[in-house]
Amino acid sequence: MGFAKWVSLILVLCVFDPIPIFSDSTISSPSDFLNFAKKPELFDWMVGIRRKIHEIPELGYEEFETSKLIRAELDKLGISYKYPVAITGVIGYVGNGKPPFVALRADMDGLPVQEMVEWEHKSKIPGKMHACGHDAHVAMLLGGAKILKEHEKELQGTVVLVFQPAEEGAGGAKKILEAGALENVKAIFGLHVQHNLPLGEISCKSGPILAGSGFFEAVISGKGGHAAIPQHSIDPILAASNVIVSLQHLVSREADPLDSQVVTVAKFQGGGAFNVIPDSVAIGGTFRAFSKEGLLQLRQRIEEVVTRQAAVQRCNASVSFFENEKVLFPPTINHESLHEFFLKIAGEMIGRHKVKEMQPLMGSEDFAFYQEHLPGYFYFLGMENKTVASLETGHSPYFQVNEDALPYGAAFHASLATTYLFEFQQQVSSQEAKYHDEL
Ligand SMILES: [Zn+2]
Ligand SMILES: [Zn+2]
Repeated sequence: MGFAKWVSLILVLCVFDPIPIFSDSTISSPSDFLNFAKKPELFDWMVGIRRKIHEIPELGYEEFETSKLIRAELDKLGISYKYPVAITGVIGYVGNGKPPFVALRADMDGLPVQEMVEWEHKSKIPGKMHACGHDAHVAMLLGGAKILKEHEKELQGTVVLVFQPAEEGAGGAKKILEAGALENVKAIFGLHVQHNLPLGEISCKSGPILAGSGFFEAVISGKGGHAAIPQHSIDPILAASNVIVSLQHLVSREADPLDSQVVTVAKFQGGGAFNVIPDSVAIGGTFRAFSKEGLLQLRQRIEEVVTRQAAVQRCNASVSFFENEKVLFPPTINHESLHEFFLKIAGEMIGRHKVKEMQPLMGSEDFAFYQEHLPGYFYFLGMENKTVASLETGHSPYFQVNEDALPYGAAFHASLATTYLFEFQQQVSSQEAKYHDEL
């Protein structure tokens, strides 16, 4: 074998030989993390936690029992934490307590949905359900934390565990940031389970993956009266109908066709009799865009179109964007540099062919708030196993979690955090060495 061939063989071996992250022999690569997470003692423990949380779903900022359960598990693991952060949030710390800091996030709120799945651990709270899989997200992060804690001495920095309240519409991520919980954190990773992606696969993408979103409600007021004598009334039903048609022109005529946007009027309430013109009509809906500018532009134009179009029919209109209750979600944009890093970890853990490129979606995630402040990466974890059952989409009363996905989540959390800290320190030392060489 010639010299060039020897060099290329050595290079190939270097590329495929996973970098040992921990000095002990039990875990050294992302696939080892997965095998570790699949061990019955860890798997059963995560399943138990997920089922307990599933039975007691709590809505945004009301996750007191969920938070208590998380803290009890962290106590048992010997993991220190801050509480309360953002009302019910818990921020845990694993590692040497020193920088660099890397964060992992799990949302913990349920939805106002009545569970229709009949099983042993069905929601015990009428009208509330973990219908988005956040119970699984909490169990996965605790699983990741358990793995990390067992190797704490070898972590080259600190992992910040973010158990976040109120993802479903109330912007708990924003409150976590406002509480200063992520100061000095270099990067944050988060995941969501996906019902129609095969178990063991991942879907991810660099750049914008989910739209930013906002909600609006408008009250259009006219003058009620007899439906047979319209000349004595000012008809808000007709005015609202024209408003809705005009709102459709914002996306079709004002937005760049290559910049996907949505304006949907999903609520129309007015009148109660066949022969009475009502005094007022309420309409409401949502708007979506893939850039903050696009979102703000839509918000401004919705207000203008509603008030001015209503005035054409002699009506008054007021528009609310729920500034106090529902925050404007920015688009979820994955950091370019973390994409390459993520692909490497995912490829090593599950095989590159199981890492799929996702199509951006018009749905929203409040993980986007973190990404406005620090490099962040959000990815989707498959849980579909067609041989067992086909799963319903999130927010459905028939939503189910395939618990076999729990080890994947835990392994990804532990792997991403450990390798991030390891590579960060490697980079710092190589920069220091370069600096000394230059001196
Ligand atoms: Zn959801
Ligand atoms: Zn969700």
